[in-house]
Amino acid sequence: KEADLGRLLRYAADRFSIFSEQQEVQLAVDVPSKLPPVYIDLDAINQVLDNLLSNAIKYTSQGGTVVLSAKENRSLNRVQISISDTGIGIPARDLKRIFERFYRVDKARSRGQGGTGLGLAIARELVQAHGADIEITSEWNVGTTVTFWVPFAQGGSAG
Ligand code: ATP
Ligand code: MG
Repeated sequence: KEADLGRLLRYAADRFSIFSEQQEVQLAVDVPSKLPPVYIDLDAINQVLDNLLSNAIKYTSQGGTVVLSAKENRSLNRVQISISDTGIGIPARDLKRIFERFYRVDKARSRGQGGTGLGLAIARELVQAHGADIEITSEWNVGTTVTFWVPFAQGGSAG
């Protein structure tokens, strides 16, 4: 159904304010005040945001930054949503398998973090169920950005 994406994104960031404070990671939201209505499953996209924000904060050490941003792409009739962090990054050799179920970058480094390796696999399934794409770029010891797109509702842009 049609959804107010800006509100959804701000609420998602709010859910993580305590976790980010505990981790001493700054969580910033860069979302325009006006976004076009989008056609999404609210629960599904909330789950995607939870999985991606929890990763971004969990895999960023103290003093780092996570940015949740969104921007309208009128030529493609979709909104681009990105979660960027200045965290530990993912080695290039792991990147191509990172969306697989249970895949985690070497166990030693993630042992202390807890997790099953399902968050990204689920996020990808939920985004793809919208007929949309999800991508990840990362640099070891520099940071990671996950980007996905959601379709405009019928009737176009925010104007
Ligand atoms: P779960 O999400 O099921 O609790 P998880 O976080 O280990 O466990 P995924 O979310 O699927 O599983 O992520 C898979 C692996 O990808 C992680 O174990 C971690 O090694 C790596 N990863 C995911 N997001 C990031 C990120 N933002 N920065 C660095 N590494 C990441
Ligand atoms: Mg995860």
